[in-house]
Amino acid sequence: MKFSRRDLLVWGAGAAAGLVVTPVPWKLLDDTAKWSQNWPWIPQPARGPVEVKQSACTLCPNGCGLRVRMAGGWPIGVAGIATHPVTRGALCPLAFGAHQLNWHPERLKVVRRRGSASSWEDARAAFAKACSSGRVVVIDGYAGRAASSVLSEFAEKRGEYRVVHGAETRALAPYEKWSGVATSALGYDLENARTVVSFGTPLLDGWGVPGRFTRLWADKAAGQSDPQLRLIQIEPTLSRTASRAYQWISVRSGSESALASGVARVLLEEKLVAARGPMPELTLADAALQTGLQTDEIRELARTIAAQTPAVAIAGDGNPSVAALNVVLGAVGTRGGIVRRSSSATSHLSADAAIGSARAVLLDASVPWNFEPATDAEVFRFTAWNGGPTKSDWLLPAPGFVEELTDVPSAPTSRVETYGIAPVLTKAMHKTQSCAEFLASFDSSLDSAEKVIHARCAGMFRARKGSLRSRDEVAIAKIESAQKLEEQLSSVAVWVGEPALGGSIHCALKQWPAADAGSPVEMRGNWAAPVMPTLATKLYQESGLRESGRNA
Ligand code: SF4
Repeated sequence: MKFSRRDLLVWGAGAAAGLVVTPVPWKLLDDTAKWSQNWPWIPQPARGPVEVKQSACTLCPNGCGLRVRMAGGWPIGVAGIATHPVTRGALCPLAFGAHQLNWHPERLKVVRRRGSASSWEDARAAFAKACSSGRVVVIDGYAGRAASSVLSEFAEKRGEYRVVHGAETRALAPYEKWSGVATSALGYDLENARTVVSFGTPLLDGWGVPGRFTRLWADKAAGQSDPQLRLIQIEPTLSRTASRAYQWISVRSGSESALASGVARVLLEEKLVAARGPMPELTLADAALQTGLQTDEIRELARTIAAQTPAVAIAGDGNPSVAALNVVLGAVGTRGGIVRRSSSATSHLSADAAIGSARAVLLDASVPWNFEPATDAEVFRFTAWNGGPTKSDWLLPAPGFVEELTDVPSAPTSRVETYGIAPVLTKAMHKTQSCAEFLASFDSSLDSAEKVIHARCAGMFRARKGSLRSRDEVAIAKIESAQKLEEQLSSVAVWVGEPALGGSIHCALKQWPAADAGSPVEMRGNWAAPVMPTLATKLYQESGLRESGRNA
């Protein structure tokens, strides 16, 4: 029998169809997969009981609530906590991949001195020598923690304690100067505002606690022609925040101060607000010239702001003219404005101030990677990851993600005081030490961060103020003991203080503040993680985490 080319094609088609329906190839594939998984050199994922633990993200001072999925004692996934009283389930892209960070190729495994491998013994000897021969400056990037109190106690005996303030805290700095109320006691009561005037702040693109403003905007403004919450976005280009705002006003780059002064002048001249602040020196014509707007447009903007109050202005950084506009608007110390969330808070010297003569500068692991102290002193930087070129003399391996017990004070922009505890969820894979542990080992009179946390919980228990929030809300007065309170804070709950104290901020502003340099807002430049997890890299790039609208 002759076997034609056509017969061959028909046979081939039949064989292909048969392969699809027969289980043989799939069985072979399955067997091969199982067999190859047992090759000894294939990396094995963690095995063991799977459990979900609650904690808080401590990668930046927002302290978002985290659910960490663990397998065999190792973190394998991260999600937000829907019942968290501040973040309500939202996280930024960095945290979604944070469980990968401890295995990052740039994880710092050994002490490094000027690029070469060194040892903890050498680092200790160098620091001891520096301490005995001069002043020591300790720099913190996340003030208010128990570890911060160890750092500040050490530094106050041997030199100075300083803090790297984020852009959101710097935006509150003028009020501290005028009222004496520390920035760490101030927050924004956005939930009760009806008009928010954003001077280049990326409110819908990564400002403040993730999800807070986007949720408010979705509830009160999205898709409404006359929304309960008006967002007026002032910036030169149409950013994502500007494109979704109630109104976008395009001004010349760096002219935000001029516009704030012009609006304040109209508010006072037309008596649209009760006079609460000094008249700006800048004329309306000059404000128009600097911003590129018409004088009528500035007048119209002032009337729009005054038409729906409470209104609050938010600066992307420490812009004194925007802060003075809030004084004129009566937004300082009032509902829907800048509120005082805590009666006890201390101010800290900024790390940007000149360091002067010092023998050593210590950077805590919370200091953003892009911060370099301007000093000739020997710099010791604690970090869990090597973020690339640095002027630091020493890199000291610090605990990584969920490897360290730490407490979590209120987020910088929060309107209420909060407190949580992030427990140790996984063991460190290398010999690590936090800056607080390192300093406590040089001064036996210092308490460990753990002891400070115990003391803080005992103090909260005695004060009997506020409540514990998880799924339910329980008044502190109903908790049986300080130990129980600490257990709750370490596992499921967050302490939330009493509502903000209104009317307790008096700004002594006699003269309109001098215009600042008018530098454009650049949120991205203010905060930098040393490395990004693989999962977050794409999200980070595409979502513009901490990116100002002008880069959009
Ligand atoms: S903003 Fe992101 S990095 Fe910061 S605490 Fe929240 S989840 Fe973590």
